[in-house]
Amino acid sequence: MTRDTPQDPSVTSPPASWSDAPSRDALQLIAEGVTQLAGFGVAAISAVREDGKMEVMAVAGSDAAREQLQGRRTPVDRLSRELEKADDWGLLRFVPHERLDESAGQDWGWVPDIEPIDGAEDAWHPLDLLVAPLYDDDGDLRGSLAIDLPVDGRRPGQAQRTVLNQYAEQARRAVLVALERERLAERVRMADAARRIVRTATAQLSLDRIVADSREALVEGFRAAGMWLQTFDRDGHGSARGEIYSSDGSHIHLTPELITIAEVSARAAWERQQATVVSPHREFGPAITAEQGELVLAYLNEIGVESLLFTPLGAGPEVLGNLVLTRAAGAPEWTEAEAATALDIGHDLGRAILNARIFEREHELVEELQELDAYKGQLIATVAHELKNPLTSVMGHLEMLESSPDFTGHARSSLQAMDRGARRMVRVIDDLLLLSKVADPDESIISAPVDLRRVVDDVVDLTLVAAEQKKLDVVVDLPGEPVFALGDHDEIDRVAANLVSNAVKYTPASGAVRIGVERVGNDVLLSVADEGIGISSDDLLQLGTEFFRSSNPEAVAQPGTGLGLAIVRRIVDRHGGQLEIESELGSGSTFRVWLPAAEPES
Ligand code: ADP
Repeated sequence: MTRDTPQDPSVTSPPASWSDAPSRDALQLIAEGVTQLAGFGVAAISAVREDGKMEVMAVAGSDAAREQLQGRRTPVDRLSRELEKADDWGLLRFVPHERLDESAGQDWGWVPDIEPIDGAEDAWHPLDLLVAPLYDDDGDLRGSLAIDLPVDGRRPGQAQRTVLNQYAEQARRAVLVALERERLAERVRMADAARRIVRTATAQLSLDRIVADSREALVEGFRAAGMWLQTFDRDGHGSARGEIYSSDGSHIHLTPELITIAEVSARAAWERQQATVVSPHREFGPAITAEQGELVLAYLNEIGVESLLFTPLGAGPEVLGNLVLTRAAGAPEWTEAEAATALDIGHDLGRAILNARIFEREHELVEELQELDAYKGQLIATVAHELKNPLTSVMGHLEMLESSPDFTGHARSSLQAMDRGARRMVRVIDDLLLLSKVADPDESIISAPVDLRRVVDDVVDLTLVAAEQKKLDVVVDLPGEPVFALGDHDEIDRVAANLVSNAVKYTPASGAVRIGVERVGNDVLLSVADEGIGISSDDLLQLGTEFFRSSNPEAVAQPGTGLGLAIVRRIVDRHGGQLEIESELGSGSTFRVWLPAAEPES
């Protein structure tokens, strides 16, 4: 007798073939040796699987036997029970049919259709069991060699047993090698799946891409029939608002009850750092109760899936979702190595999901800030416009009053003070209007070659009076030929004017201001250096922010709006240029503006 029958529900069929070809070939050769050289009709070699079942890996003998036995799986403890009654034949164990449980008679095995030799004491009976349990060096049962149908119709004698023992030892080694090879192959497969996911999916910043990129590696690497990934909401609940992504893009409909089970189980599984298998052939893991497990199995049955590997997705203490890998009936059971790899992947995908969320949130924040910025720009522009008209009228009336002979003494100096105040307001309003224009991304630049030498000449002319009043030495270093920047003439003029007027304003009497222009590669450089009061390193960090004026009392003493450098920075930015500021408190400042160069129009 060789094996048990398929009526038994714990016997799985068809075979789940895992072993690689060379391992199988070696086992097949040994089985054939037993049939051809040791004189038996059937030999079958099995290996113990992770789910506690013996799987037949190689069968030699009749076609009928091969057809029935190949790939069959039976619980290991069946064999162990029979072995308790067996005679010890070295590596072999023999259970004569008389000792077999009578009621088990029909259930048991592939029973060869032979009659025992009449009368002979050592006649082989169809229900006799001859098997070599194969143990590893630690004494664990790893497989078996089952032998049946002696050609001479007799129970083996001493000489035959010796030969069979040798085959049993060969089978033992071959099974151990095959299992080891399989274990290594599985580790490579798992490592490959994990590496592919880390390489591709975790670099993605959107959940859709993470799922799309990990799908193939997961389904292939885990030999799964399908997968789905559920992410919980940002507030951590797997409610209907959580997303479910399936491997083939189809819609996975989970009932609210199943979603709750998934969420609770994901938390429990993450806490234990365990992936859980839900399968009709196994007890449910600690992350899932029997009742929940039955519900899940019923659902799986509905969708044509037999078992699943459930993995929590998380990062640090946070549980972000779960990954479900499915297998159909007849596929191999999930292994420990697969569960361990799934958990590792749960960490990698968890981090990727967290990154994607942070990115999404940042994206939203940036959009909100941009909207706010646009609103602020509009508000400033509107208010500045609204102030400008009445202010123009105020200034007109002031001018009229000032020219009237009716006002003398105190009244005249009040009028003059009002005029100074109003002019200052006009400056602020003009700066605000310009700032909102250059900060508006919809306000495009009309670019043309702008000769920086001419711009600097004009600006220096305008500041000459102020510079002379302070007896400043203004040194202008211009090349002999034009230096063209690409941009808007008025805006570039404004950059130069602001920098030169600041240099003059913040340099004490008798100091020097140097202005230079040159072409450097594909750029042009405008530099304005002074020997003025300088800027502290703290203030440097804030320079260019709207309305920022330095904390230095010497600087505050000068009239200003704090908008000039903000305008400069915006203009330089929108021209694709760069602004560099070098300064030291008390020893002067150098402002450098790099702008893209333009070739002169021919
Ligand atoms: P404003 O000059 O109208 O105050 P800006 O935006 O042009 O506004 O300049 C901002 C601040 O930067 C100034 O208040 C001043 O403190 C400092 N600053 C600008 N240019 C210089 C400079 N050349 N030397 C020293 N401090 C400067």
